[in-house]
Order: sequence, then structure tokens, then C-alpha cells
Amino acid sequence: MIGRDASGVSTVAKSSSETGTKEPAAPINSAERIHALAHKALERIEELHLTPIPQVYELWFRYFQGDPEITRAIDNHPEPMDEVACYKVYKRYLSESGRGDAIRKIGDQVQQSLTELAGTLSVVKASTSEYGGTLADVKKEIEGATTIEELSRVVSGIVADTKMMVQKNQDLEFQLTSSSTQVAELKKNLDNVKKEATTDGLTGLANRKAFDKQIHDWVEEAGVSGSNLCLLMMDIDHFKHFNDTYGHQTGDQVLRLVARTLIDGVKGRDFAARFGGEEFALIFPDTPLEAATRVADTLRKAVEGKEVVNKNSNESLGRITLSGGVAHYVKGESVTDFIERADTALYEAKNSGRNTIKTSKDPA
Ligand code: GH3
Ligand code: MG
Ligand code: MG
Repeated sequence: MIGRDASGVSTVAKSSSETGTKEPAAPINSAERIHALAHKALERIEELHLTPIPQVYELWFRYFQGDPEITRAIDNHPEPMDEVACYKVYKRYLSESGRGDAIRKIGDQVQQSLTELAGTLSVVKASTSEYGGTLADVKKEIEGATTIEELSRVVSGIVADTKMMVQKNQDLEFQLTSSSTQVAELKKNLDNVKKEATTDGLTGLANRKAFDKQIHDWVEEAGVSGSNLCLLMMDIDHFKHFNDTYGHQTGDQVLRLVARTLIDGVKGRDFAARFGGEEFALIFPDTPLEAATRVADTLRKAVEGKEVVNKNSNESLGRITLSGGVAHYVKGESVTDFIERADTALYEAKNSGRNTIKTSKDPA
């Protein structure tokens, strides 16, 4: 049965299972790969006659690394990538200040709305006490009135003041409603900016920044409470070949498909993030190693069980597999060492033929 989904590729359930290929593994995150990326970045900088300052270098390094936001921003940039364009893309996606600016701007707007609101309230307070004063005077005037004409003048004055007060109250109600709508809108914008800052644009999973914060928080928690904490690093097998064969856009759709399969396969407080490129990181709080390894294998099988189908041509694009490494947090271990152990287990999974999960032994 063919099922379609919003990722733009379709999947069919596969009953048969294929064993991993046995060719030598390409090292993940190896010095060799980093050198190759650095070389490409510098070559492009030279081609474009750019000054190789760290920001420009970082931008192009991330581009060749396949960072989805940077790739999209550069590939779709309307003008040639000169120094100004590089600066703009860097500022928008890589500098903290780019995101900070958006948050600051909304903060300023909220401040302005609240100042306006405070102004309105003080005007109303003043006119309410004015009206209170008028009513107190009226009592005296009524007591002092000796003719029907004098009484009538006092009553007319009250009617006029009351009309003015009703009008002011209506103005206030209108201003309060529009101010609170504005504040609600700004709050929504702020929530969106916050969400954007922690979400991966392509897959909708948590991004690397959110992952870094989560793992630090939970490692600290597990360090204090001694609770179980596991980390799973997963990487798509031979994804470069897939991209080279079917194009980057179809590759992007596959990344969305994998992300959704992962998020559908975890529950509760489990945390799934895009670690970078075609690599995913999942954190399992309160989960012992055996249970995390079981979940990892279920996720691996769920992805393997989906055949990717081109939605336009119905052509089968084959199957995507994942390799994974699981590590269990050991009290006192640093976050870096913890991630490194999961990454080493992933590397072993790649070396042993891919489409498999390996588990890291707890350090002695
Ligand atoms: P291995 O099994 O050893 O992991 O092989 P691999 O080909 O998956 O690994 P390699 O690191 O050589 O290549 C990763 C590829 O992932 C390179 C890049 O084209 C692709 N990639 C990374 N990020 C993205 C992305 O956002 N979109 C697309 N379409 N491809 C990406
Ligand atoms: Mg890969
Ligand atoms: Mg990789």
C-alpha cells in the first residue's frame, strides 16, 4: 500500500528486511572530512574574492557541511554572494545578535504598548476624580438652590458632566481593548520567535541549540538524582549517494520523513533533535540502557520499513536506513564525553555494516 505524506515523498510498508552492506565505512566527523570541508570553503572564498575572516569561513564551512538553513539562504540568495551578502546571511542565521535583535524589537514594542496603556489609565484616573469632585459640589449647589431655575441649571450641569464621563469611559474601553489586542499579538510574535530559535526549519525537530541546552539540563539532573539517562545518536546511511542520485530537494524530503518517523516513535519526555546534516540525536530521560537500545532498534526498523516513493512519478527511490549508537550516562561524566561515547558507538555501527544499533559500554 502506498501512503502519501506532507513531506512530498510517499512510503510503502516493506515486509522484507535487508542486511547492511559490508563496504568500508566513511568516517563520520573525521579529521579527513573536516579538512575536505575546510578546503572547499576556502576554495569558494577565493573564487568569490572574499576576505577569509572567521565569519565568512564559518558561513561557507556550514554551507558545504550541508546546514539546511545556510544552504537554502545561499542557494536562494537573490544577489551574488559578495561580502555584504555573506554578512547578511551570517548575521541572520549564525550570529546570536541576529536572533537577539528580533526579540529585542518585540520587547521594545511591548514596552511601548504598556507605556501607552499606562498613559490612558492615568488620564482616566484624573477625569474620574474630577467627576467625583463635581458630584460633591452638586450636593452643595442643590442645598443652596432657592429657585426652580437654579435647580434646573445644576441638573443640566450634572447631565453634561455625566455625558462627558460616559464618552470618556467609551474611549477608555476602546483604547484598553486595542492595547490588550496589541499586547496579545506581540506576545504571540515573541512566542514564535522563541520557537523559531529552537526549532530546525527543515524538519521541525528541536535544533542543535535546543539539544545542547536539553542535554546539559538533563545531565545535571541525572548527576544530582542518579536517575537513568540515555542518548542515541543516529545517522542516515549513504545519504550522500541518495542526494547525488535524486537531488538535494528529494534528500530534504527524506530528512523530513525520517524526522517524522523518529518523533512518532518516541513518547513522553523523550527528546528528538536534528543534531546537524543527516544526523539526529535522541535523549531518553529515566530510561535504562536496555530499554533505550530497544527503542533505538524499533526506530531503526521503522525507518527501514518505509520505502521512499517519488510522489510525482510513483518511482521507488529505495529504502533509507539509519545507524545508531546508544550511551547510558554515568555519574560524573561530562556532557562532551557522554556525546562522544554515543558517537563512538554510532561509528562502530557504521563500521559493522550500517543499518544497526551499537551500545557503548559504561566507562570503568
Ligand atoms: P555514512 O553512511 O557513512 O553516514 O555516509 P553518508 O553519505 O550518509 O555520509 P557523508 O557524511 O559522506 O554525507 C552526508 C551527506 O548528507 C552530505 C550531504 O549531502 C547530506 N546532507 C547533509 N545535510 C543535508 C540537508 O540538509 N539536506 C540534504 N538534502 N542533504 C543533506
Ligand atoms: Mg550519513
Ligand atoms: Mg553524518
